[in-house]
Amino acid sequence: MYLLALPAFNDNYIWMLHDGVEATVVDPGDCAPVLAALDRLELRLAAILVTHHHQDHVGGLAGLRARFDAPVYAPARESIPGPCIPVAQGDCVQAIGARFEVIDVPGHTRGHIAYFHRPSASTEAPVVFCGDTLFSGGCGRLFEGTPQQMHHSLQRLAELPGDTRVCCAHEYTLSNLKFAHAVEPDSAELSEYTRWCEQQRSAGVPTLPGRIATERAINPFLRCGVSTVIDAARRHGSTSDDPVEVFATLRQWKNEF
Ligand code: ZN
Ligand code: FE
Repeated sequence: MYLLALPAFNDNYIWMLHDGVEATVVDPGDCAPVLAALDRLELRLAAILVTHHHQDHVGGLAGLRARFDAPVYAPARESIPGPCIPVAQGDCVQAIGARFEVIDVPGHTRGHIAYFHRPSASTEAPVVFCGDTLFSGGCGRLFEGTPQQMHHSLQRLAELPGDTRVCCAHEYTLSNLKFAHAVEPDSAELSEYTRWCEQQRSAGVPTLPGRIATERAINPFLRCGVSTVIDAARRHGSTSDDPVEVFATLRQWKNEF
């Protein structure tokens, strides 16, 4: 299987997984980069996976439906334009010979879902398509959900195997890492990862996919139980060690950062 990040708009990625014949795309906010990639690689579109209802994730559906008869899988708790197959926690999507487990990750939106794929070949690492829930070094804004929901959703993602490739829908990494550095200024792992990401960006290539193990080590939003993060949150208004309050404080601090 091949995994591609198709750049769209300013900083979106539309992820494509293909086997050389058929492709699955995730969150096609724009159909143009998807159609261009399908044509260039001579692939047939076999399925579309949608994580949440925002326009930059669904805006390309009509254009893709006009050319392909591919099923669109979408969160059961959200309304997505056009005919969709609603999926939620516990459901499994089968496409291009692969299985995608649906994980409910509410917070950014009320019905946001993620798709987890564990390849059958043991030489390949698992993949998670997490939309706007987990970003490298950060997380999505809380538009519709509560800090409690988002914290829980991020914990679910953090529990995936450490080698899981994290396919986020935006290239927000460098700005997230500036904030992460403000939270944990003494983290050597964070400094090392930041240097690597800066090199990637100056070479014009994505910092993504990330790795779950890396995110556990450097992403403050996955580290709400770690003493350095708890202490930093206390300096920004948190009054307890409760991970949800630490998370809510970090999220608010980041909004104003
Ligand atoms: Zn969004
Ligand atoms: Fe988005």
